Amino acid sequence: MAKILDGRVVRNIIAADLTKKIKKIKTKPKLVIIQVGDLAQSNSYIKQKILFGEKIGAIVELKKLKEDFSQLDLEVMISNFNSDDSIHGIIVQMPIPKDLDKDTIINKIAPEKDVDGLTATNIKLLLKNKRGGYPPATTKGILTLLYHYQIPIHGRNITVVGRSSLVGKPTAMALMNLDATVTVCHSKTKKLPHITKNADILIVATGKAKLIKDFHVNKDQVVIDVGINTTTQNKVRPSSGLLEKPESELPKIKLTGDVDFKEVSKIVSAISPVPGGIGPMTVASLFQNLLEAYKQQSK
Ligand code: NDP
Repeated sequence: MAKILDGRVVRNIIAADLTKKIKKIKTKPKLVIIQVGDLAQSNSYIKQKILFGEKIGAIVELKKLKEDFSQLDLEVMISNFNSDDSIHGIIVQMPIPKDLDKDTIINKIAPEKDVDGLTATNIKLLLKNKRGGYPPATTKGILTLLYHYQIPIHGRNITVVGRSSLVGKPTAMALMNLDATVTVCHSKTKKLPHITKNADILIVATGKAKLIKDFHVNKDQVVIDVGINTTTQNKVRPSSGLLEKPESELPKIKLTGDVDFKEVSKIVSAISPVPGGIGPMTVASLFQNLLEAYKQQSK
């Protein structure tokens, strides 16, 4: 059985560290989360960010906007947040409705407040391997998890499955900056199992539940599963005995990664689970970026 790379454990270590640091400062770091629409999955991600922020003593404000909120109004709102000195970080929760221009909206965020590290300015710093920007929170979370478990990156063969601007590409760039030899795969890649099997570290971010099976991996491999896929099960939960009525037939949401954990964990040397792997790492990394943004803006 593979060693479990437990993101919750590392998240808690980061939370303790951030709490200590934030306690020492007078005004608190403030994050604004902009959500357009009301997607259940986004609601759940946002809830985790708010809970984590509250736990460490940061201020988190949610601006929840109607699905039909206009591009122009959103851009004006972001400009106003940019010039508000009490706000140190701004994120737009993805996905946003298709009729909004995602790139323009992201790039409206002032780079120094872009704690999700997705503006062109921050991506360019990553591309050029220059300091001073914020790496995307998920990329940072992956690197921190590997670092915590003392998994070397330098000189290793790392395969990233997925080439999105949000996860795959920035993660591949960050790994190259750390002297890994990186292969990036995507939906048009031929002979995927052949490529994934040869990696020392396999990072999967496709949004395809259980895509990676036993025949994609090898016994010495470290597998990082970024995917978060939800399935709803209409299960009747048993009455707790404390409730007058049994709990109703609420749909139960189950999270699954892009890796078939049951199969793959029997083979590889280490694996990050879903839930409890990169998800909590992403949240913790976002707030590390927020504290850094606070420090930069308070100079
Ligand atoms: P995108 O849909 O933007 O990108 C998916 C990528 O996977 C694309 O590059 C696509 O290829 C590739 N892909 C799809 N199917 C296959 C396949 N069969 N074989 C090989 N490659 C394939 O997704 P994101 O990058 O935004 O997110 C990926 C996953 O990570 C999702 O489950 C998301 O929920 C999760 N996520 C988790 C986070 C966390 O904190 N843990 C944070 C962000 C995302 P192509 O380019 O050819 O279409």
